[in-house]
Amino acid sequence: MFITVSDVIEYLFCPRFIFFMHCLNIPQREERYYKVLRGRELHESREKVNTSYVRKRLKCVRKEVSVYLTSRRYRIKGEVDEVLFLDDGTAAPMDYKYAEYSGVVHRTHRYQLALYGLLIMEHFEVPVNRGYICYTRSNHHVEEVIFRQKDYDAAIDTVNEILRTVQYGYYPEGTKQKARCVDCTYRNICD
Ligand code: SF4
Repeated sequence: MFITVSDVIEYLFCPRFIFFMHCLNIPQREERYYKVLRGRELHESREKVNTSYVRKRLKCVRKEVSVYLTSRRYRIKGEVDEVLFLDDGTAAPMDYKYAEYSGVVHRTHRYQLALYGLLIMEHFEVPVNRGYICYTRSNHHVEEVIFRQKDYDAAIDTVNEILRTVQYGYYPEGTKQKARCVDCTYRNICD
């Protein structure tokens, strides 16, 4: 069984999403709409991120777009918006967010990038010690995230928690941030 990088994002938002989606097979309402919207935004955003900016400022010598990767070792899979190959021999994931940059990179986004980093390292056999997020609603601001071993370890621990939840059918605690429950698809069946 493989966990998707999207599953990890959902899990960090509220661990119970995974139980409802994968143990009870109840899909999220917005999923399909979200995917269509995201595809459209991504296409437009990529065109706006100046190619010479990526090449010069990030010292990128080559890139691959929409790269779908799986890892048997970590049991994860996901599609990386862009894999940048840098002039120091390392590679880095670039992820586009339809969001404003608030001054900090959210934990969810950091984990997501770290998982992409693990996938890239395994597949391309190059070191990955940083990643980038492009915030499309802040004039395509690009923020760099440096990865430490603890970032990779925390991301892998989360994947293992999700695998345990799904395999053993655990009913996890819901999010402590109750404001998230207000618009939640599952609020009628969640106690
Ligand atoms: S209602 Fe709240 S606790 Fe329950 S699944 Fe939704 S966000 Fe999580």
